[in-house]
Amino acid sequence: MPIQSVAAFTGPLSPGQRLRAAARRAALLGLSLLPGRGRRGALRFPYYHHVFADERAGFHRQLRWMRRHGEFLGWDQAVGLMQSGDPIDGRYFCLSFDDGFKSCITHAAPILAEHGAGAAFFVATRFIGTDPVADRAMLLDFYPGEQRLMEFMSWDDCRALRDAGMVVGSHTHGHARLSALNEDGVLAELAVSKQRIEAELDMECRHFCCPWGQPGGDFVPGRDPDVARRAGYVSFATTARGPTRAGDSPFLIRRDHTLANDPDYQLRAFLLERG
Ligand SMILES: [Zn+2]
Repeated sequence: MPIQSVAAFTGPLSPGQRLRAAARRAALLGLSLLPGRGRRGALRFPYYHHVFADERAGFHRQLRWMRRHGEFLGWDQAVGLMQSGDPIDGRYFCLSFDDGFKSCITHAAPILAEHGAGAAFFVATRFIGTDPVADRAMLLDFYPGEQRLMEFMSWDDCRALRDAGMVVGSHTHGHARLSALNEDGVLAELAVSKQRIEAELDMECRHFCCPWGQPGGDFVPGRDPDVARRAGYVSFATTARGPTRAGDSPFLIRRDHTLANDPDYQLRAFLLERG
């Protein structure tokens, strides 16, 4: 049976993990209490992997929080704004989801629609349309060393996202760590996934999101965004945190990792600018 809840996804925490989580909460709470600086414009890219049934209420709360503190911007609009170099007046939130898990369509998409929020869904094409029973061994390999069986979306699910006005982008074909590949290998991962999405969705696949996404560790900043450009992409998303300002490149988009049950003070700590 694939994982259906964040409780099962996370599993029981060891005493050490519990202690570290408590220290992190205290640090973020402290950070969230620093005065925000509302006047500077910024574009923020919170990103998720899953919204399980036991995260629905938290995801609703987070979208309400974002609506209180800014406006939603779709991925195409956000990239367009970055390409223009125009000043960013106000605070904008542009959401995305990595990997292509089933909970994107069952839980996240209806809640996004309710709040009028667009989002980009970055899928690892090798896993789309797999079956939790027939493809069990391959799916367990998605998280090596862990007993986590994840269910992925079907291509029909991806078409439903497209029809709802969402962006479906590439997250490579095999969820590859680009830094471990040579340039030809990177190009192959980017090209195969792009072609597959375009064939299945009958629309151009313009946006790429790097698996794991840390500059230097998971991809080569001086090489891979340029390979993406040559493969025909117009944006390259990473997992480096921080605000996006006017003039920043869409080929190194900074995003903030978010869990749908993260409390409001954590959103405040990560997503509001401070002096
Ligand atoms: Zn990923």
